[in-house]
Amino acid sequence: MSAHSIDGKALAEELRASFKARVAALAARGHRPGLAVLLVGEDPASQVYVRNKVAACEAAGIFSQKLVYPADVEQGVVLAKIGELNADPHIHGILVQLPLPRHVDEKAVLEAIAPQKDVDGFHAENVGALAQGQPRFIPCTPYGVMKMFEANGVDLTGKDAVIIGRSNIVGKPMALLLINAGATVTVCHSKTRDLAAHTRRADILVAAVGKPRFVTADMVKPGAVVIDVGINRLPPEEGGKLCGDVDFAAVREVASLITPVPGGVGPMTITMLLANTIEAAEREAGQ
Ligand code: NDP
Repeated sequence: MSAHSIDGKALAEELRASFKARVAALAARGHRPGLAVLLVGEDPASQVYVRNKVAACEAAGIFSQKLVYPADVEQGVVLAKIGELNADPHIHGILVQLPLPRHVDEKAVLEAIAPQKDVDGFHAENVGALAQGQPRFIPCTPYGVMKMFEANGVDLTGKDAVIIGRSNIVGKPMALLLINAGATVTVCHSKTRDLAAHTRRADILVAAVGKPRFVTADMVKPGAVVIDVGINRLPPEEGGKLCGDVDFAAVREVASLITPVPGGVGPMTITMLLANTIEAAEREAGQ
């Protein structure tokens, strides 16, 4: 039997509709959530992500400020701007679009953001809080995945969860969230020996690798829940479409639940950025 495909777009829309009341309640008390997005350089994918984030803010009634810098900007200029935004009462969330050009120290930039405005959840203080099971902001992509589990009644307690990928943005925070939720977690990466031996015993399998159709049906346990975080652009000779890290057509015949690409985890990521920004504004307003 084919797996049920989780509709991330529909869930994202449902959540965004529920945010309207929260934004209206803030507005009634004279507060409007505000997000500042900093983009350095002209990376085309980053430009698209930033444009989508700003558009999503607008649709949700969130004030947004887009700040664009040339690729050769001095790090001090970016740090000074972050300092200003930290002190700006109209801004509740600050996001620096990654990756940054090589001459800019990513860690220094992320650590310059006030932890109370770090809506991406990448500041060391917020990573530490998540590791201790008391998150202030949960990184948006894994947060979106947790919402998908919740919305689909996936009980994580005692489950074997395997994550492929150990990035600070996806793999590691995903692991912390699953541990906090009571799963037994294995994190695999490029140095993992016999990857399929791990993935084949996963009740929950999260792929965040960045390689098209990397997870094949023979790597998946029958009945598993498969979450595909990957966003890969296929080469023109293969149609140039977006494709996940999972061989969707084959794996859906083995899994019980699966996320498609596009229309799976992707729409949830920006949705959780909105959630974190609203949450930051609510905290500031003392709600
Ligand atoms: P990274 O490149 O930072 O991490 C990829 C991970 O995959 C690394 O830990 C790497 O291991 C591991 N890996 C690479 N090759 C193998 C292999 N052969 N076997 C096992 N593990 C391997 O990527 P991100 O975490 O930032 O992103 C992952 C994917 O998710 C990308 O496609 C990205 O576009 C997408 N993404 C999607 C988002 C969304 O909103 N849906 C948001 C963020 C990312 P090692 O550490 O050893 O190098």
